[in-house]
Amino acid sequence: MHYVSTRGHSGRKQFCETLLEGLAQDGGLYVPETYPHVDDTMLDAWRALSYPSLAFEVLSLYVSDIPPADLKAICEKTYMPEIFGSPDITPLRKLDTGLYLQQLSNGPTLAFKDMAMQLLGNLIEYELARRHEELNILGATSGDTGSAAEYAMRGKKGVRVFMMSPHGRMSAFQQAQMFSLQDDNIHNIAIDGVFDDCQDIVKRVSSDLEFKRRHRIGAVNSINWVRIVAQVVYYFSGYFQASEGRSAGVDVTVPSGNFGNICAGHVARMMGLPISRLVLATNENDVLDEFFRTGVYRVRSRADTLETSSPSMDISKASNLERFVFDLLDRDASRTKSLFDDELRERGSFDLSGDPRFVTAATRFGFRSGKSTHADRLATIRDTWGRYNTVVDPHTADGLTVGRIHTAPETPMLVLETAQPIKFAATMREALGRQPDRPQRFDGIEDLPRRVKVLPPDAQTVKNYIADVVQAATC
Ligand SMILES: *Cc1c(COP(=O)(O)O)cnc(C)c1O
Repeated sequence: MHYVSTRGHSGRKQFCETLLEGLAQDGGLYVPETYPHVDDTMLDAWRALSYPSLAFEVLSLYVSDIPPADLKAICEKTYMPEIFGSPDITPLRKLDTGLYLQQLSNGPTLAFKDMAMQLLGNLIEYELARRHEELNILGATSGDTGSAAEYAMRGKKGVRVFMMSPHGRMSAFQQAQMFSLQDDNIHNIAIDGVFDDCQDIVKRVSSDLEFKRRHRIGAVNSINWVRIVAQVVYYFSGYFQASEGRSAGVDVTVPSGNFGNICAGHVARMMGLPISRLVLATNENDVLDEFFRTGVYRVRSRADTLETSSPSMDISKASNLERFVFDLLDRDASRTKSLFDDELRERGSFDLSGDPRFVTAATRFGFRSGKSTHADRLATIRDTWGRYNTVVDPHTADGLTVGRIHTAPETPMLVLETAQPIKFAATMREALGRQPDRPQRFDGIEDLPRRVKVLPPDAQTVKNYIADVVQAATC
């Protein structure tokens, strides 16, 4: 299996190259040359597998440059009950007839991003050792990505993490989770700006090829293909758990921000997993809901990006959407490039409403969408507690709000649970009038000493900081 850029750069890459590079050279995103097809015989054979074995089978279709025995060992040491809290790894919780939560947030940092990041950490350590190389990971986070990346990379040989976050915009718990890490290879950078400023700096630094090469810069933010493929696995697991031997489809609702999670659902569906509908839920930052409803993709300005009570979905643009649009346009790379490069740069938006391929997208790709507001979020948290004795976090509540509108009789609906309530205590108190439960291992985390550097939203300043740290470490 080889990987190509959504913007048509001619280089074909191996899996481990996309692992270390993140973004393609032309600014596009790596996608597999074709989606491997999973037929009914394979689905039947996979149904009874444990999560790590299922992960191995799915990954094997995408990885041709790691010996199978090594890949299997990596899957087994990643998806352990001790790390993810249960042998099922992503168990379903039944709320109602045909309505389930798929629990993706019982890993080390209590958000679904651990599902991919823990695998990524082990793969990166493996590949760097094999190449006798080092890597400096530069990332941007609005909360959950950063802590998941840091917990996946802490103490790993050959890796340093430089994680930018918008200064003062993460929840107290999220800040404490990240900034309390004392590992030498973890560097927190608080940027005076919003999440998109952080993401722009990643893009800008990564497009300075000379700097990137000299300092061995890589990315782990949601554009990394390996994160997408790691997430594909739990769509299979959720399907097997919900369908109990029936071959009928399932619907899945995904609380969405950067389109990484639901992009994995799209890939699973392209592989032949019987997902009937993929329901995309946004919060008030409804860039993606607008795109799926109207065909217009309009990047929001900084002033139009709202700070909401589901902050991990506060985005002004969705960096993984390009992968879907590439498929929507029947993999026309030059058209994809002109949309995401030229039109977004010139106008800040593009419009596919007149394209027949957009008009048939809902049918071809199963997408539906909807948005949820602060009031919806609170009402759903209360309602889910009252009716089902279950406490959901604000992001999962956005998923439930939108998912319930799209439930169809006969088809199980899986709503992906993306975080644990304790990460968003203030909103939980507002909804339920009390503090959410806190797993014991996080007691007192806010009081620990912190390691964080505050910098202005300027790519050059960040480059200088990285260069200084790397130089200090190597001499
Ligand atoms: C990252 C995140 C999301 C959004 O996921 P994307 O892959 O960016 O669409 C939703 N909920 C939580 C809790 C998250 O951490």
